[in-house]
Amino acid sequence: MKIGILGGGQLGRMLIQSALKYDDQFYTLDPASDAPCHNISSFTQGNFNDYETVLNFGKDKDVVTIEIEHVNADALAELENQGVKVVPNSRIIKTIQQKILQKEFYKTYNIPSPEFQVVWNGDEKIIMPLPFVQKMNTGGYDGKGVQVIRTEEDYRNLWKDPSVIESLVDIDKELSVIVARNENGETKTFPVTEMMADPKLNLLDFNICPVFLNEDVERQISLITEKFLNAVNSPGLFAIELFLDKEGKVWVNETAPRLHNSGHQSQEGNVNSQFEQMYRVVKNLPLADTDTITYSGMLNLVGAEGHAGKVIYEGMENVLKLPKTYVHLYGKKETKPGRKMGHINVLADSREELMEKLIKVKGMIRVISE
Ligand code: ADP
Repeated sequence: MKIGILGGGQLGRMLIQSALKYDDQFYTLDPASDAPCHNISSFTQGNFNDYETVLNFGKDKDVVTIEIEHVNADALAELENQGVKVVPNSRIIKTIQQKILQKEFYKTYNIPSPEFQVVWNGDEKIIMPLPFVQKMNTGGYDGKGVQVIRTEEDYRNLWKDPSVIESLVDIDKELSVIVARNENGETKTFPVTEMMADPKLNLLDFNICPVFLNEDVERQISLITEKFLNAVNSPGLFAIELFLDKEGKVWVNETAPRLHNSGHQSQEGNVNSQFEQMYRVVKNLPLADTDTITYSGMLNLVGAEGHAGKVIYEGMENVLKLPKTYVHLYGKKETKPGRKMGHINVLADSREELMEKLIKVKGMIRVISE
């Protein structure tokens, strides 16, 4: 099959890496000439937000998928009209792209997500009680486009652009669950992972699996995944980001209609990875089993503050000496503060050992410039 991917970043790169054991042709579209997929696929340099560019890219492919959701969904709808398979379909991409539609989707399908109010231009009366979180309708990514309004004073910082404001959840844990559905309607869910964020950078830091949750929380999560998979009405692989609050209630924060950073430990920690699963979804093959092999965790390799330029992974050789430690780099030549350059997966026999190893590895390696 000719498989086209909108976006040529690390998610696409690892999808292709995993799928090379099968027999397909991969094509990628990305504005950056040195995108992580540029030298491992048939690469087109171009803007995936541009209608004509996406149409031209997709029209001779058997299937078109995405590794980023900020793409031209109208062009994907037109490709569907022309008979090209689009995974996930343009309708669900459009819904998820816009925070307002995404929140309305949860409401319609009775999926618990924090209470919200829509802001169109900031002139409306704010009825949401303080404190609350404001999220831009479009373009938010990696913590950008999100702000907390805590006091009356903070009201003057309120963005006057289309956005949602939602109640601030008193978070105990941030969890993620990756679900998949193929065209035949078969579904599979990965074990839940826990995301531990770096408070400064707002970028996912550690991600660990399995997570021990009480029966009630497990039940809430399986109800959410079941409702979501029934509601999406599209083949696809989706990452549902969840909050577990301090009272034991689970809320959906947001969903990504694609491969996700919170699933990277599945590369070595589960019998099949999210990338294998995505490949099967794209090809409408029987879905892969997702069982956990052992305790696994991931840490992001993120560009250090104060370093920009040709990248050096300081301490890498020592990391490579560690048992059950797996380095994944994304093929990015230049680092800058906060840029995701790679990740390291670690396996262990217990949660304690896993945390110890992750902290140790984090202290051993630094992403700096020459
Ligand atoms: P992004 O898509 O940029 O990652 P998120 O919507 O996931 O943005 O928000 C980033 C972080 O902000 C979350 O991981 C969480 O820590 C915090 N956050 C978002 N929404 C809420 C909320 N309603 N209550 C409390 N914290 C929140």
